[in-house]
Amino acid sequence: MRIGNGFDVHRLVDHRPLILGGVQIPYAKGLAGHSDADVLLHAICDALLGAAGLGDIGEHFPDSDPAYLGIDSLKLLQTTFDLVRQSGLRLVNLDATVLAQAPKIGPYKAAMREKIAAVLDVPPERINIKATTTEGVGPYGRGEAIGATCSLLMRERAKQRKP
Ligand code: MG
Repeated sequence: MRIGNGFDVHRLVDHRPLILGGVQIPYAKGLAGHSDADVLLHAICDALLGAAGLGDIGEHFPDSDPAYLGIDSLKLLQTTFDLVRQSGLRLVNLDATVLAQAPKIGPYKAAMREKIAAVLDVPPERINIKATTTEGVGPYGRGEAIGATCSLLMRERAKQRKP
């Protein structure tokens, strides 16, 4: 078994779409970033890389590289998962938390789960998405930023037996 954890924060700003877990959420503000700034998928990427001992998302997708400008983070997740899978790991389960005072995440959790499960090649039941408001406290509570954490477990694929 291999454990991984990930954490990310992006600033909330005007004139950007809000994309979380690969789902666009109607809201007055969006997250600032070089990519689409999907903070949840970035935390998941870091957790996957962590489990495989492959560093972090900044090493693999530097924000100085124009190739990643405005990129759909589902593509980053797919590329990350392909790397991790090549190292012989498959996902057991994933549990993530979004820290956001607003908007309400609840109505979009099922859609996020479906999108993430499809990329990570597991049934949606293996993907759990939670959300907390932080009760008005700190940068998330004041609506300055949205954060996300992810913990996950991976299993090494069984070695093939020799015929
Ligand atoms: Mg990020």
